[in-house]
Amino acid sequence: MGIAVSPQIHPQVAEFIDKPRKMLINGRWMNAASGKTFPTYNPATGEVLAQIAEGDRDDIEQAVRAARKAFDSGPWRRMTPSERGRLIWKLADLLEQHSEEFAYIESLDNGKAFNIAKVADVPLAVDMFRYMAGWATKIEGNTIPISSGGKFLAYTLREPIGVVGQIIPWNFPLLMAAWKLGPALAAGCTVVLKPAEQTPLSALRLGELVMEAGFPEGVVNIVPGYGETAGAALAAHPNVDKVAFTGSTEVGKLIVHAAAGNLKKVSLELGGKSPNVVFKDADLDSAIAGSASAIFFNHGQCCCAGSRLYVEKSVYDRVVEGVAAEAKKIKVGSGLDPETQMGPLVSVEQLNRVCGYLEAGFSEGAKAVVGGHKAGDRGYFVEPTVLVNTKEDMKVVKEEIFGPVVTAMPFTDPEEIIPRANDSEYGLAAAVWTRDIGKAHRMAEQLRAGTVWINCYNVFDAALPFGGYKQSGWGREMGHEVLNNYTQTKAVCANIA
Ligand code: NDP
Repeated sequence: MGIAVSPQIHPQVAEFIDKPRKMLINGRWMNAASGKTFPTYNPATGEVLAQIAEGDRDDIEQAVRAARKAFDSGPWRRMTPSERGRLIWKLADLLEQHSEEFAYIESLDNGKAFNIAKVADVPLAVDMFRYMAGWATKIEGNTIPISSGGKFLAYTLREPIGVVGQIIPWNFPLLMAAWKLGPALAAGCTVVLKPAEQTPLSALRLGELVMEAGFPEGVVNIVPGYGETAGAALAAHPNVDKVAFTGSTEVGKLIVHAAAGNLKKVSLELGGKSPNVVFKDADLDSAIAGSASAIFFNHGQCCCAGSRLYVEKSVYDRVVEGVAAEAKKIKVGSGLDPETQMGPLVSVEQLNRVCGYLEAGFSEGAKAVVGGHKAGDRGYFVEPTVLVNTKEDMKVVKEEIFGPVVTAMPFTDPEEIIPRANDSEYGLAAAVWTRDIGKAHRMAEQLRAGTVWINCYNVFDAALPFGGYKQSGWGREMGHEVLNNYTQTKAVCANIA
């Protein structure tokens, strides 16, 4: 497969990546205390894209000190909720004004198609900030009638949790920053954000907009660096009150251990192996298109990717052929090529990981109806792949691949599908395709997943909570539920006799 790697770069982005990018601490752009930098790569070519200040323990120390001071004694705490909301809204406006630039940055740093970043990642991030700006004035407690005798006025206050460490992954770099920053700022917390080493650029550019919007110094600190150093120091820091993490289940468990030192609060959005169930009574054309997009959107690098496709036996061949035909049509190439529908995977590690899974699948007896290999001779491209002859005990069916690889399996009896769909250590998302509305809702009730889509897939909204059952995580992102991650409740009881 020939892969066109287009060289043109947006002029403002070219200027942004030309110099080593610094980290944001206490409202200032700084080099790492060690003076070290690390490279970020263009996944379409494998070439170095930019150099980034490499934060580690010392930089995290400074950033946490700044966030602590901003939380304990800075102007941020004296601002009204309305003022906080207006700042978040202003950040959304600034981001929207720079949509094109951010879409370029995402495409260059992560590999995703510019055209998709422009209509999905950037507007969803803008929308998240706007939605959360509205919440700043609506975080309320309750008055509580109590029955303990005497006369009391009892009420609750929902207070910001304090200094928050936020560690985010590379699959939606800007959007993950917005999912994390938006609610924390609406609640009145201060933040130290660590972007993924593979994709630090959009968070750093967002940091410039944070300062332009007028957030007080120390409210948002952004420290790029490696997980094992900067990330681990943030998760373990005794002056951090809460850590919010999105990434692998394996690292999620390390975060829990690291947080134990000061028993900081933890929220986790982790991996998935989501079942996507197609019944014979579904509108098969939309089920086929939806099932292809469920796995191939963002090159399968989605925690909620529909990676286990279960199809009722009588329509299995038709659905598998349909999804394979969709896969064949996908134009794979550089994210900056306007024709591209699927870019490269984010890194050489991810490429090797996905190819390793494909080999494991083949050695256990799986067959590729389409795809199955690395694509192109440079960059980190993998062919969109549909695997058949797969069974529940295979590695490719049990483990999260995080690439454009779906395993298709038939089922005969609708009763058998619930236990099979739920047979996973993960529980992030699931989908059901059927015209039988009763069956759809019965399935939704029985599927052990934080999100169930019916006759659709990958529908996200800032107002819709998202998060995992089982080992897919703790807590919810988005919706008003995410505010629970960043607030704590104080009960006040006054004797008014
Ligand atoms: P990680 O979980 O390692 O990375 C997510 C974030 O955690 C990054 O910012 C990373 O830093 C940081 N991190 C890594 N180690 C530590 C640590 N010990 N303490 C604190 N922070 C840490 O995911 P990978 O990038 O390694 O991807 C591996 C797999 O994880 C994927 O194949 C996929 O299965 C899953 N994944 C799931 C995601 C999701 O959305 N739920 C997103 C990304 C990956 P850095 O990268 O900078 O070193």
